[in-house]
Amino acid sequence: MKTIGLIGGMSWESSLLYYQIINERVKERKGGHHSAKSLMYSVDFQEVKDLQHQANWTAATKIMIESAQKLEAGGADVIVICTNTMHKMALEVMNSVSIPLLHIADATANKIISDKIKKVALLGTAFTMEEEFYKGRLINQFGLEVMVPDEADRVVIHDIIYHELCLGIINEHSKNKYLEIIDSLIGKGAEAVILGCTEITMLISQEDCSIPIYDTTRLHAEAAVDFALGDEA
Ligand code: GLU
Repeated sequence: MKTIGLIGGMSWESSLLYYQIINERVKERKGGHHSAKSLMYSVDFQEVKDLQHQANWTAATKIMIESAQKLEAGGADVIVICTNTMHKMALEVMNSVSIPLLHIADATANKIISDKIKKVALLGTAFTMEEEFYKGRLINQFGLEVMVPDEADRVVIHDIIYHELCLGIINEHSKNKYLEIIDSLIGKGAEAVILGCTEITMLISQEDCSIPIYDTTRLHAEAAVDFALGDEA
């Protein structure tokens, strides 16, 4: 079994889910008392969040690179960045270590494609919904059609992520706002929804939606286990 190196803390609530899903998946595949070999380097999210919102991506990238290098030095065989947004600097992180990085958008897109879905709605932080590093990858490398909410709705989605979900706050009113936004995207032709922020799964589940949802937290964590175990029974 290979050792999974997780860059966590963004937020720690979602890193907790990664840890749980990864271990559950190893147990499911190998049985008995098996659990995942893993390392987590968990950052101080206040520092990262401030840098994001000041658009100081150089300093934010430095934190991510140093985290990845610490994991490699500690014996990790693969890097998993436990957030969609911080894949903005995935390439720089990838180039700073000699072990592979498992990209969250790839884990998600592979499943969407295997389910033969073409037109997806993407929910996430403004960075994820608006910038090319994520949407562009889904479109250019996987041929998906990607829809995002309109500007006012993107603000709602973004603010709920940072003001509530990343603080562990689950609010029924916010859930209803998300569901209204998803409904309007369904009305515009979305066949599925990507929960493109690793905390949204704490708010929205498949039972809430009439179309398939793709939970990036779960898909990424499971892809990490599949990498770590390879063909092992
Ligand atoms: N966990 C979130 C994501 O998946 C947002 C927190 C962050 O800014 O990294 O994008």
